Amino acid sequence: MSPESAAAVGQTFRDAVGREPEGVFSAPGRVNLIGEHTDHNEGHVLPFAIDRRCRVAAGRRTDDVVTVRSAQQPGDTVTTTLDALATARGWSAYALGTLWALREAGLPGAGWDLVVAGDVPLGAGLSSSAALECAVALAVSEISDAALDRHTLARAGRRAENDVVGAPVGIMDQAASLLCREGGALLLDCRTLHSEDVALGLEAAGLETLVVDTGVRHDLADGGYADRRAACVAAAEALGVSALRDATPEMLARLDGTLRQRARHVVTEEGRVHRVVALLRAGDPAAVGPELTASHASLRDDFEVSVPALDAVVETALAHGALGARLVGGGFGGSVLVLAPGDAVGEITGAVARRAAADGHPEPVARTVHPAGGARREDP
Ligand code: ADP
Ligand code: MG
Repeated sequence: MSPESAAAVGQTFRDAVGREPEGVFSAPGRVNLIGEHTDHNEGHVLPFAIDRRCRVAAGRRTDDVVTVRSAQQPGDTVTTTLDALATARGWSAYALGTLWALREAGLPGAGWDLVVAGDVPLGAGLSSSAALECAVALAVSEISDAALDRHTLARAGRRAENDVVGAPVGIMDQAASLLCREGGALLLDCRTLHSEDVALGLEAAGLETLVVDTGVRHDLADGGYADRRAACVAAAEALGVSALRDATPEMLARLDGTLRQRARHVVTEEGRVHRVVALLRAGDPAAVGPELTASHASLRDDFEVSVPALDAVVETALAHGALGARLVGGGFGGSVLVLAPGDAVGEITGAVARRAAADGHPEPVARTVHPAGGARREDP
């Protein structure tokens, strides 16, 4: 029994809390196939949930106390009260902030005991944070029979991250974790939250997706990310549209210099999302590769959010058989997504490690990820 299995989490709950959990729920991490920096411009993204999950065993209390512990934060049981949820700090803010946001959205009831264990690597660009938020959200919503729909749960996770953790993230990660279906990606309109399933067909085509964590860390609260968001807002204002999602390639000529570059990334990336969806729907996932590589070039040259360690992984992967590769996430570090034939994965992994060593970059960690289903109840 792996320590993160639903049965193990249920057992930890029994041992630590001293009664039966009322349910065990899980939610996956995600990777975004394409659509980078389109979310905060109200455009489209195309994430898929991955086969790594966060599990939460939960039970209601009769007082106003909330406890939360996690196998990934051993020895740290956090105990608080309902009226102090929004002041949570550290790792527990993701779980307690979600509970706070759900209560703001109308979740009734008293306190909770929550036990968490997951196998989404923390801070590796696979959204362990959304996995944690969404597992907590689904657990407390289902157990309290609150019948909150999954969009409401996704918004609560985002609010936890925005308002309690203090990270200015969009809704993509939570939507992917809650709405994705096995084997498919989620085409998400970040303006309306309308979503459609898009079958990936990777396995049938003999393709693998590899996520290479460069080990170069970015800080979302840092200036670079805020600066790019501000540039997008400024460009939209200059063009007289409410968000860059409404800008067309022809309109770009009306912008100057840096603003034009930033907007061009968003506008061309939006086009790439729709091309990738068309290729997948036509049953040609291998043809997605060049779109990923074009996305990387745009993020590097127009949006200017790449760093040498990311560029080195992309170049090396492409030189060793990858069909496409791009940085994923906000940029300035983090991970690269590689699309490759299954039999090239070993060689790519070795080559990116050698290149990082030669360049004096941190040792990268490569993980294959497979499309999986969204948040669900588990048998404890
Ligand atoms: P990412 O979402 O890309 O993994 P973030 O920095 O957004 O990276 O979120 C990672 C943080 O989320 C961790 O540092 C930790 O505070 C919290 N977290 C995620 N999963 C867990 C977990 N299973 N147990 C405890 N904390 C977690
Ligand atoms: Mg996160």
